[in-house]
Amino acid sequence: MKLANVGGRAALISDGLATDVAQASGGRFGPGLRDVYDTWPEFRTAVRALDPLGGTPVEPDCLGPPSPEPRQVFGIGLNYAEHAEESNLELPSMPATFTKFPTCLAGPFADVELPADTVDWEVELVVVIGRPGRRVPEPEAWDHVAGLTVGQDLSERTTQMAAGAQFSLGKSFRGFGPTGPWLVTPDELADRDDLELGCSVDGECVQRSRTSRLIFSVPRLVAELSRVVDLCAGDLIFTGTPAGTGMGRVPPRFLRPGQVVESWIEGIGTIRNRMVAPAD
Ligand code: ZN
Repeated sequence: MKLANVGGRAALISDGLATDVAQASGGRFGPGLRDVYDTWPEFRTAVRALDPLGGTPVEPDCLGPPSPEPRQVFGIGLNYAEHAEESNLELPSMPATFTKFPTCLAGPFADVELPADTVDWEVELVVVIGRPGRRVPEPEAWDHVAGLTVGQDLSERTTQMAAGAQFSLGKSFRGFGPTGPWLVTPDELADRDDLELGCSVDGECVQRSRTSRLIFSVPRLVAELSRVVDLCAGDLIFTGTPAGTGMGRVPPRFLRPGQVVESWIEGIGTIRNRMVAPAD
């Protein structure tokens, strides 16, 4: 199942057509995405019986983030060995966790204002939590995942590394969390633990790896995070970025106004974001 945010309303996507969840369910589910996640187990059971007739073509510009109002957004640093190496940082023994404040979330095709000249790209697999959880055992972790989507963990490196490397603010400028184009439930994927992902800037491939190379896998992250905090329906986990970021290059490379960043994951889709100069 593919679930999208179409103009703020939850919609099922099939063959390029969107079916409004609230309309198709006679008001039982939706209308918003958060309403759907808050009833996720019932929704998943009922969705098979929803009538998909009457879908309308998906307009990319109408798509918003698949989970626009999460209570918590977790970001994981240094979760691919090659990226830790290019960052000159040691591999962590537990997930290196920060937050992207939820107001930074943006739609899959949103323009992103560059607040500085040291903004970097980071393609990431993003987990959306379905069933809430506390102290989730790793073998049960996938049962708590609603689905997966594509995300960019855009990072303003100067702010990120200031004040003793506090990551959260540098990764939370407006628009710094584009996600989408939709959520894909794990059962739709050939292998939910091994997906190719990549990123290009103006058509030049800058990152390419596989999620099987994550140091802390999706189930491990759900287990580790829920050992400390309660996971809520709709929460997001940005699982970390592979090698190929701009700061790891010699000389370092950062994003400029007019550049287009494309981020994609096998079996999920592609998001595309144009970088723009800040408005006065
Ligand atoms: Zn990241």
